[in-house]
Amino acid sequence: MPEAVLRRAAAEMLDWHGSGMGVMEMSHRGKEFGAIATKAEADLRTLLAIPANFHILFMQGGGLGENAIVPMNLSRGTIADFVITGSWSIKSQKEAQRYCDARIVASNADGKHTRLPDPSTWQLTPGASYVHLCTNETINGLEFQELPDLAALGSDAPLVIDFSSHVASRAVDWRRVGLAFGGAQKNLGPAGLTIVVVRDDLLGRALEICPSAFNYKTVADNQSMYNTPPTWGIYVAGLTFDWLLQQREGELTGVAAMEQRNIAKAALLYGFIDGSAFYENRIDPACRSRMNVPFFLRDERRNDAFLAGARDAGLLQLKGHKSVGGMRASIYNAMPIEGVQALVAYMREFERSQA
Ligand code: PMP
Repeated sequence: MPEAVLRRAAAEMLDWHGSGMGVMEMSHRGKEFGAIATKAEADLRTLLAIPANFHILFMQGGGLGENAIVPMNLSRGTIADFVITGSWSIKSQKEAQRYCDARIVASNADGKHTRLPDPSTWQLTPGASYVHLCTNETINGLEFQELPDLAALGSDAPLVIDFSSHVASRAVDWRRVGLAFGGAQKNLGPAGLTIVVVRDDLLGRALEICPSAFNYKTVADNQSMYNTPPTWGIYVAGLTFDWLLQQREGELTGVAAMEQRNIAKAALLYGFIDGSAFYENRIDPACRSRMNVPFFLRDERRNDAFLAGARDAGLLQLKGHKSVGGMRASIYNAMPIEGVQALVAYMREFERSQA
């Protein structure tokens, strides 16, 4: 989280804008919270350049919830195509299997998820209800640098992207997307809020069994207030949208400014790792994630000492996911370049100390 956002939330915690209430104490149907939600939605639309024919839904259930909610809303119980690129797309396909014929049309599992399957090799199903992609595989550290053009690949299915772990870190080409979903907790705000951006022609296809509170049309028709939305999450995400819109890098603003910074942060860290004989990253350079950088010490017996020293240096949460092992630096939007510089300085010093 950007420190400025946390400080503002703290300052407004007991009394929001002189209303005599904190945001957690407001009715979601009152005018105060209505103003917060309306501004948050408008700012997100501006920030991500979301076209007018897409609805923004503030939901709950997280990325894993959407793994069920998407097929319940879009599949009509027929076929959906899945591109397997790592841990999160595997989970998505397994969950969707409960609601439709969830077909694996490409997979990078035999390369242990170290490179992305080339779109020209995807075996897309004619007439599939949608095609699912995880555009940033958080655990494996792979990111699509460009969204596929499904029409050019001969498919007229809408593209569904799980952008949980890189939302607002780069621009989205909405011409290629039917639906995007993501938990807010990486780049946008506290856990508990799920963002769904859905093209309007995809509403109204839900299966009979779909819970009303998860039916995109019901949520859209009620401006995300069919049930009580995660009000605190929407408020803090709104503060983050505001902060993001104010970011500047030279001529660039908002997401474009963040993208510049993220490119510089990732280049610094990957550049250091690639130049070292002590550390390694195993991901194909063409599809390395700018947000999540998994790396290994070539001598893994030094892992515990590396993590203990990092903790002493104030560098936290560097242990890799158990399914991959090694280390992982998550350098989300709010991580300043100084944080990455501090990590690289520590890594260099640790390497020297082990010589
Ligand atoms: N998809 C991706 C890409 C993720 O990174 C995560 C969480 N790390 C999830 C889905 C699952 O999200 P949640 O925990 O919000 O259900």
